[in-house]
Amino acid sequence: PVRVRFCPSPTGNPHVGLVRTALFNWAFARHHQGTLVFRIEDTDAARDSEESYEQLLDAMRWLGFDWDEGPEVGGPHAPYRQSQRMDIYADVAARLLDAGHAYRCYCSQEELDSRREAARAAGKPSGYDGHCRDLSAGQVQAYEAEGRAPIVRFRMPDEPVTFDDLVRGEITYLPENVPDYGIVRANGAPLYTLVNPVDDALMEITHVLRGEDLLSSTPRQIALYKALTELGIAKTTPEFGHLPYVMGEGNKKLSKRDPQSSLNLYRERGFLPEGLLNYLSLLGWSLSADQDIFGIDEMVAAFDVKDVNPNPARFDLKKCEAINADHIRLLDVKDFTERCAPWLKAPVAPWAPEDFDEDKWQAIAPHAQTRLKVLSEITDNVDFLFLPEPVLDEASWAKAMKEGSDALLRTAREKLDAADWSSAESLKDAVLAAGEAHGLKLGKAQAPVRVAVTGRTVGLPLFESLQVLGKEKTLARVDAALA
Ligand code: GLU
Repeated sequence: PVRVRFCPSPTGNPHVGLVRTALFNWAFARHHQGTLVFRIEDTDAARDSEESYEQLLDAMRWLGFDWDEGPEVGGPHAPYRQSQRMDIYADVAARLLDAGHAYRCYCSQEELDSRREAARAAGKPSGYDGHCRDLSAGQVQAYEAEGRAPIVRFRMPDEPVTFDDLVRGEITYLPENVPDYGIVRANGAPLYTLVNPVDDALMEITHVLRGEDLLSSTPRQIALYKALTELGIAKTTPEFGHLPYVMGEGNKKLSKRDPQSSLNLYRERGFLPEGLLNYLSLLGWSLSADQDIFGIDEMVAAFDVKDVNPNPARFDLKKCEAINADHIRLLDVKDFTERCAPWLKAPVAPWAPEDFDEDKWQAIAPHAQTRLKVLSEITDNVDFLFLPEPVLDEASWAKAMKEGSDALLRTAREKLDAADWSSAESLKDAVLAAGEAHGLKLGKAQAPVRVAVTGRTVGLPLFESLQVLGKEKTLARVDAALA
């Protein structure tokens, strides 16, 4: 059975790279009717925070991901927060030391640095040089007597490590490029290098799908797995698949710190989780050459990690918005109106709560649904209905109100007054006729009307908007513009 894990560290805000990793693991688990383990890698007390942990859980829920083992749901390998598993790591480290798979390293940082410099200068590999690999009892005693506090270092085998990456194919690391590495700090704190593979082993993870930035830790983990298997701690070694880098602006790797990468930003702007997930799935994967828009179920049905493209993927905000827009169109109207709710209420909405009119909202919603890229755009698009006065910005006014606009508006007012307000078509004919009287095409004729009534140069379909606002208010606003 497939067992995969999503194991973020609770540092900072969740970001889109993290979401992509969660998505691919979740889709893989669901496709194979496997188990998704959600594990919190919070062994770095200096960087981890409870707030960030809460945000991670909240993000997972918002995205619609469920997990089979982990926080809140528990499971046979609980606890799923590494900060609560410290005695497990201490025990494993002790067993690795006993068996000779790890050793105490007394080198000070200065010693390590100066030897690294020397190796570099001599053109030799500059990783750890194995200085403490085989200390005699006397040397150990001498170091201890000096009061040196050792770290624990894992002893890499002196042979190449080869594995078949699920995304990248066969990869081999030569021993000179994978030196012995630290697994426990001098103060006894276990490092990612230990706790991550130990938990993967104990939690019987079968497939590790994670970002390409972790590729170089894989040979170390495979070697550690071998040792854990020998000790009876691991049953098998998982398969590894490394998801491609995500590139942002200027073709640089999208980093956590990039504002564009913050998940909160997408939530605040009103991306739909399904729109965002659809887009993120395309960062390294595709359903088919001619179908960009699909639901999560379609992804789950088709997802195979072997189809993931190893080449860097480019994060394209425009495309992300376009895909989100398509998902907005796909909602049924009722769902759409409900999802807009947060943007129609205080503190986001600029109108007084008592000026909000549910009937007008229901009437305009279907027209808004065809226009928005993100839900937050709803506020600007419907504010003319709920504000006592339209938002009038000078620039829009100047753009739409040309010479002759007054005359046009006067004629339009007359024709609109006489129109049949039960039909948007009739309102359009009125403005069309007014335009004709002044030698203007419909597009030019409707611009001043739109600005006078909504305060904006662009917006929802105009005649439906006028209809929903109502005859009285529409004419009053045209009058105000003429005054
Ligand atoms: N906690 C690690 C991270 O967030 C997990 C890496 C991994 O998937 O092995 O980078």
